[in-house]
Amino acid sequence: MAFQSVNPFTGETLQSFEAWNREHIESALQQVAAVTANWGATPLPQRCDLLHKAAAVLRAKKDALARLITLEMGKLYTESQAEIEKCALGCEYYADNAAEFLKDEIIGTDAGKSYVAYQSLGTVLAVMPWNFPFWQVFRFAAPALAAGNTGVLKHASNVPQCALAIEEIFHEAGFPDGVFRTLMVRAADVKAIVEDPRIAAVTLTGSEPAGRSVAAAAGACIKKSVLELGGSDAFIVLEDADLVDTVKNAVISRFLNGGQSCIAAKRFIVVDAIADKFVAVFKDAVESLKTGDPMDPTTTLAPMARNDLRDELHQQVQDSVKGGAVALTGCEPLPGPGAFYKPSILDRVKPGIRAYDEELFGPVAIVIRAKDEHEALRIANESRFGLGGSVWTQDSARGERIARQMQCGAAFVNGFVKSDPRIPFGGVKASGYGRELSHHGMHEFVNAKTVWIK
Ligand code: NAP
Repeated sequence: MAFQSVNPFTGETLQSFEAWNREHIESALQQVAAVTANWGATPLPQRCDLLHKAAAVLRAKKDALARLITLEMGKLYTESQAEIEKCALGCEYYADNAAEFLKDEIIGTDAGKSYVAYQSLGTVLAVMPWNFPFWQVFRFAAPALAAGNTGVLKHASNVPQCALAIEEIFHEAGFPDGVFRTLMVRAADVKAIVEDPRIAAVTLTGSEPAGRSVAAAAGACIKKSVLELGGSDAFIVLEDADLVDTVKNAVISRFLNGGQSCIAAKRFIVVDAIADKFVAVFKDAVESLKTGDPMDPTTTLAPMARNDLRDELHQQVQDSVKGGAVALTGCEPLPGPGAFYKPSILDRVKPGIRAYDEELFGPVAIVIRAKDEHEALRIANESRFGLGGSVWTQDSARGERIARQMQCGAAFVNGFVKSDPRIPFGGVKASGYGRELSHHGMHEFVNAKTVWIK
């Protein structure tokens, strides 16, 4: 079977699904193509009304959907509930703001009248990851559908039940059949779908190799693409940081979602003057995390989503220790059926060590010590990635000055990096290009068309 739904806590296979064959894919694309023009021409208030209904369906089914997320990819049930609530808020945000974001923009020129009209592109293909199996999809779908596009989803292979449940939500909300379809296809089928003339554009959230391959296919047929890829966000701790608050946030940012978030703080860059103190308090806090059943409200660290991902992480950790990093705590898998990795810290990570250069997608924090603020900023910007970053200091003007110099898509001061429908989300460098969320996200998949009338 191509798609296995496996509970990462127990290792039990919950359900398996066959991948669609060519005829099945063709019939879905035909259905979507048949409704695309009508959907684009549907009055905006009607499209927004349906998005409000999708938010209501999400809320009504919140606990069942959250349970499904936890069973299928392992995150804490409370985190799954928050994810469903965020999807509902995202739908409402675009339902409430689409009219403003899409209204004609009058521009004074030599014409009697000239303006920009924002018009839908057609069908957008979304290739999505498993780590936020609902939120990643809704933050693409809400603005894209509100703007009058139709959407097709290729979800990650390990979350097939979530993929089907999302299609069902749009159906229950009353969206016309074919406006949003889940395609049960393999990664190997994606290139042909990108190349299909009925697909206008593609958005991918995932790893660099997947991004490279999908962007190459889109580029070859001159189609718009947006890439949200990996990150290795810097968390800069200056000597005047509030230690207790900083450590509390460091733990949340790194270990939320089983440590599997693109915008998790991954590189803790700490200036020498506070490094020993920070590391000692951080170590205690990390060691107090409790692994266990993700449905149990007392569990504070979830299993990883798959055993192979845990093995890959452990290899990166072992290679880093061989390269000279210090395994301060954890740094090994937990025995048992669950895909647990001990909450871990690698200290004294230096250039040339895998953990310095690569993204560690799991519950492992790395500490890099810096002489001072200038060196901390240099190290932060030395990364190939540029998704997010944060600075921790009691002098917010100093924090802001550093934040503005960080090479990333989002720089936070005294707060950990998070996504919010109101602010743009995306990266620079190997973290990708384009933006999701806010009006920027909606404008990625529209034709900003100039209309000029003498
Ligand atoms: P992944 O292996 O790249 O998978 C992501 C999606 O791409 C899945 O649907 C996958 O399908 C598909 N895919 C994989 N290889 C492909 C190819 N060659 N052509 C077409 N599609 C392909 O990523 P992952 O390991 O699941 O997710 C973790 C990565 O995503 C991390 O690097 C993380 O930082 C990043 N991420 C980024 C953001 C962001 O917003 N920037 C958010 C979340 C995660 P299959 O499952 O069938 O292989």
